[in-house]
Amino acid sequence: MRKITVAIDGPAAAGKSTVAKLIAEKKGYTYIDTGAMYRAFTWYCLKKGVDCQNEAACVALIPEVNIELKPGHIVLCNGEDVSFAIRQTDVSGNVSYIASYKDIRLALVVLQRAMAEKDSVIMDGRDIGTYVLPNADVKIYQIASVETRAVRRYEENIAKGIPCTLEEIEEDVRRRDYIDSHRDFAPLKPAPDSILLDTSYMSIQEVVDTIIMIIDRKIKELEERG
Ligand code: C5P
Repeated sequence: MRKITVAIDGPAAAGKSTVAKLIAEKKGYTYIDTGAMYRAFTWYCLKKGVDCQNEAACVALIPEVNIELKPGHIVLCNGEDVSFAIRQTDVSGNVSYIASYKDIRLALVVLQRAMAEKDSVIMDGRDIGTYVLPNADVKIYQIASVETRAVRRYEENIAKGIPCTLEEIEEDVRRRDYIDSHRDFAPLKPAPDSILLDTSYMSIQEVVDTIIMIIDRKIKELEERG
């Protein structure tokens, strides 16, 4: 079977990882959550007591951070399972600073590209279609209104037992979007050849079905081209 790469980018809490996981399961692709990698790095900086707004101090930690994504959506940082810890508000509140540091991005992008080499993958993030996998077969740019995204993330957090308020989440989403789209290196923006999907009024299943239809159409096109 032909190897396929799918890039899903978009602003915070647009539902990218929820749909990417479901599509990965349905199509038998490997799901790569690049946001989890920036979150794991942030978690490590916080654990070490390093100020996440101090670029030099955070970059200096690169050699001692080993991040791995394991089956079952497990995220390891230096062998420790941080899957739950990286979703907490302290990490969410600092991750966009860490993700704006070029050296940290370059280190994590090497891992992301290596993971995409072997199997068919669906990778979600902010710069997948523009920078990490510019030759991805399918590029989706998934958006939704800030209000919709905040409510979705709030409900998700409450279901997972992560303490938060709706106001806090909405502010976090707006702030992260601003920092992510205004950084110098590999900012959040749609790739020119991406398909824009506004999911504000779509159910998860509708989004999944739409993206699978786009993927299947692309596979057919690639097969016909030979
Ligand atoms: O996807 P998620 O919201 O978990 O990502 C957390 C943060 O990691 C984002 O707000 C962004 O700052 C950063 N990120 C990034 N590039 C990616 C994935 C995530 O800058 N490819």
